[in-house]
Amino acid sequence: MQQRMDAVVANASHIYLDRGVELAGGWIAVRHGRVAAYGDSGTPAPPADRVIDAGGRVVTPGLINTHHHIYQNLTRSFGPAVNGTLFGWLTTLYPMWARLDQDGAYYSAYVGIAELLLGGCTTSTDHLYVHPRPGLIDAEIRAAQDIGFRFYPTRGSMSRSEEDGYLPPRSVVQKNDVILEDSERLIRAYHDPSPGALIRVALAPCSPFSVDDDLMRATAELSERHGVRMHTHLAEDPDEDSFCLGHYGRTPVEHFEDVGWANDRSWVAHFAYPSDAESKRLAKAGVGVAHCPSSNMVLCGATANVPRLRSYGMPVGLGCDGSASADAASLWMEARGALMLARFVNGAGAFTARDALDVGTRGSAACLGWEDEIGHLTVGALADLVVWDMASVSLAGALDDPIEALLRCGPATAWTTMVGGRVLVDGGELQLPGLPDALREHRRIAADLQRAL
Ligand SMILES: [Zn+2]
Repeated sequence: MQQRMDAVVANASHIYLDRGVELAGGWIAVRHGRVAAYGDSGTPAPPADRVIDAGGRVVTPGLINTHHHIYQNLTRSFGPAVNGTLFGWLTTLYPMWARLDQDGAYYSAYVGIAELLLGGCTTSTDHLYVHPRPGLIDAEIRAAQDIGFRFYPTRGSMSRSEEDGYLPPRSVVQKNDVILEDSERLIRAYHDPSPGALIRVALAPCSPFSVDDDLMRATAELSERHGVRMHTHLAEDPDEDSFCLGHYGRTPVEHFEDVGWANDRSWVAHFAYPSDAESKRLAKAGVGVAHCPSSNMVLCGATANVPRLRSYGMPVGLGCDGSASADAASLWMEARGALMLARFVNGAGAFTARDALDVGTRGSAACLGWEDEIGHLTVGALADLVVWDMASVSLAGALDDPIEALLRCGPATAWTTMVGGRVLVDGGELQLPGLPDALREHRRIAADLQRAL
């Protein structure tokens, strides 16, 4: 007798299971939060407690977000900051972020995760690097736990303030020993290295221009001791080059290597301005890149050369970056942005929709060192998947290649988003009873922060 499944996603018109593995129609069966079996449309699906009808729709692995600052959705699209450079934008927003408290961290995460789920994201990192008050990362982890989302917060930090000639105001930076102590506390309290984990933690000093060498080195040692990953911004902006050359006498990448970060436990956001030799060195060292197309177009004026970095063997994943720089947080949109940008920069033959999808799934999972369980739908992988609505007006007529259609047409939204077998978006609707309250609180807190200037 066939084993009864917890759920079956049935009648899909197309299933992208993994890089190079697709079914022209079929089903996926889920048991105990994992992919238990799949089959094409000619094979009968096993019996299940719940049948999710994906009729006429495309199924992919959930997209994975490797760079975000969720709290910034409290200051999205803020007038005086929107037309500045990266450094000008930061100095405008820092005083507002200095008012962030635990409620702000909780509700921004709750609303931010809801937004990510609608854009087809099933695992997200977050990089919270302002700490005007304690317990902010604990608060956002609570939001992820309340939702049941797979969450990978990184303990961000800044230790240099405007008093030392740097950008951030004194109220959002911390001393190195406080940062390191809290990093260790968070690892012990929340980091779950076991299979199927819903919460993992990484360490993430903000950037070469906001922390000192000692903190970068001590963070690398701490991450090695606990076997956790490391994340930071790197080579994002020409101002960062001038800053590093002036302060350290070396480029941002040389600085990164010098402080002991060039290894396969690290992934970096942006990587838009490295030299070719630097790219090759970090690729060889196993460093991953979180590619953030929208943020690059809004703020940075350059972008990671994704086809070239991938040709060097570098893991490249997708990131939506902070909601205040990219303003939207849809991984579908970032996958489409990656497709457009790579073709714009490298030529029409350089990058396909499948490449972009691979970046947002396998590539992102590789950045997080989690390719054994997420970023694909092979048997035994976690049941983190998305059913995409292909019947919308904007996809009418796209009958030939469903994966090209998914990223070229649109906007496409998630019809179903499943995390570990749990349905969090159903029929295009978020299944979050706490959302109306969270949106009301979020609005109140955002208005309060934006009055602070
Ligand atoms: Zn960022």
